[in-house]
Amino acid sequence: MAPLITPTEIAANAEVVRGRIVAAGGDLRRVQLVAVTKAHPPAVARAALAAGLTALGENYAQDLLEKVADLAAEPPPVRAQWHFIGRLQSNKVRDLAAHVAVWHTVDRESIADAIGHRAPGATVLVQVNASGEPQKGGCPADPPSVAALVDRCRALGLIVVGLMAIGVAGDAAATRAAFRLTRQRADDLALPHCSMGMTADLEIAVEEGSTMVRVGSQLFGARPPA
Ligand SMILES: *Cc1c(COP(=O)(O)O)cnc(C)c1O
Repeated sequence: MAPLITPTEIAANAEVVRGRIVAAGGDLRRVQLVAVTKAHPPAVARAALAAGLTALGENYAQDLLEKVADLAAEPPPVRAQWHFIGRLQSNKVRDLAAHVAVWHTVDRESIADAIGHRAPGATVLVQVNASGEPQKGGCPADPPSVAALVDRCRALGLIVVGLMAIGVAGDAAATRAAFRLTRQRADDLALPHCSMGMTADLEIAVEEGSTMVRVGSQLFGARPPA
C-alpha cells in the first residue's frame, strides 16, 4: 500500500490550490476551500485537519459516516465541518443529519423535505443542472424551477445560502457557460454562494464567481481505485 500523505504535504498542496485561486482573481476571504476526501481512508481526513483544512467534502453517506466514527474514536484538536457533495438519497438523510454542516446537493423536493424533516434549520445549497446534460444531477436551471426549489427549502425552514453546479468534463467552454448561468441564477435570487469548481476547472469557477471550490485530487493525490 502506498504510504499515506502527510499533513505537511497536504498543507503544501493547499498552498498551490490557494495560489491558483488568487491567480484566477479570487479573494481567499471569499472563496472557501472544501477539501474532498472521498475515496481516501479516514487517516487522510485526519491529516487534512492537521493541515488546517477543516471543511471536508464527501460524496457517499457510508464513507462520511465511517470517517465521522473514526474521528470520534480519537477526536483531533480541530473538528471537521462536513460538506455533503454527492447525490442524495432520502433514506440516507436521517443518518447524515447529525453530522453534515452544509448540504450542497439539494436537487429535488423530496430531498428538501427529508432534510427539512431530519435536520431542521440546516444550511443547504440547491444543485442546478446548469449544463442540461441528461445524466447529470441538479434541478432544471430555468429560473422558475430554481426559484421554486429555493422557496420550498425556505418554507421548510432550511437556510439556502447558494447554488451548486458541476462543470462539463473536458469542455472548458461548456463549463464556463454552466458556471456563468449558475452565478446569474444565484445573483437573481440574492444568494451569496456558488459551489463550483474542482481540481480541473478551478480557474474557470473562480473567474465566474465561485465562493466554494471542492478540491480533492490536487490536495490528496489521485484517488485509490474503488
Ligand atoms: C470528486 C468531486 C470533487 C473533487 O474532484 P477533484 O477532481 O478530485 O478535485 C468535487 N465535487 C464533486 C461533486 C465531486 O464528486
